[in-house]
Amino acid sequence: MQGFNKYYPPDYDPSQGSLNKVRGKHALGDRARKLDQGILITRFELPFNIWCGTCNNHIGMGVRYNAEKKKIGAYYSTPIYSFRCKCHLCDGWFEIQTDPKASNTRYVVTSGARQKDEDWNPEENGGFAVHDTEKEGAPVDPLAALEKITDAKTHMEKVQKPRIESLQNVSEHYNSDPYSLSLKVRKRFRENKKIELKKKQVDDNIKERYGLPATMSLLEDDDKAVEAAKSEWLKAKQDHDEREAKRRKTTLDITSLSSSGSSSRSLAKSLKIPASGSGSGSGSGSDALSLLRSKILRNTAKNSSAIRSIPSSSVLP
Ligand SMILES: [Zn+2]
Repeated sequence: MQGFNKYYPPDYDPSQGSLNKVRGKHALGDRARKLDQGILITRFELPFNIWCGTCNNHIGMGVRYNAEKKKIGAYYSTPIYSFRCKCHLCDGWFEIQTDPKASNTRYVVTSGARQKDEDWNPEENGGFAVHDTEKEGAPVDPLAALEKITDAKTHMEKVQKPRIESLQNVSEHYNSDPYSLSLKVRKRFRENKKIELKKKQVDDNIKERYGLPATMSLLEDDDKAVEAAKSEWLKAKQDHDEREAKRRKTTLDITSLSSSGSSSRSLAKSLKIPASGSGSGSGSGSDALSLLRSKILRNTAKNSSAIRSIPSSSVLP
């Protein structure tokens, strides 16, 4: 680092000029040592990633060098500067220039290194490229232009015209006689409507018969559903028959017991009804037994009649 303070020796005479001049030094110090060649040494920071051309190492953006800055030309009135840097990994030199023609802030590598291309490309990133809308009109090669015109003509004759004609045909086919088409459509609609109405009537009948809610949607009547319902009904019927047979058997047992065992005492024992007294008690015991029997018989009759009252045909769809 250059010192900021200056030492003025005792024999210094201001009339001789500035201290730099007396001592034969430039104000910029060591950085101006190549000023006679038009080179000023400045600190230069790499504006992009590069690969050194000599050692092939990658050098990252932002690495700083003591570069030799030199004016090498001008674009109109804007000077073009070159920065010559020495690679810090080897002894190779590379040169980077400003490029005022492309952009005010652009640099290009001119020698000794390769630039890593990381510029934003809108077309690659889902944006839209800016196209040159003012391209020169006439193609250079008249033969190529002619070929282009011929190609376009054949394409129109062979592809476009038949396509348009077929589209026209289709359109005519559908629009030539709207009356008959409408007639056809309406007829079909009426037929479908009739079928739907019939179905609805049948469904409503079933709903009414079983007290089902009107909003309930019933299954479509097909062979499969009928089959399933039939098998389900058979199963339920078998279950019911078995239960009925069991109940009948128990009823029969009770009646046979009461008829065969004339003594009220034995049934009372089996039913765990305490027989009261001996002589006069026998009369009241038989009364209780007959009461019980009639009650059981009535219950059984009621149950079986309740089950039988559902007509089997109504269960089947
Ligand atoms: Zn290098």
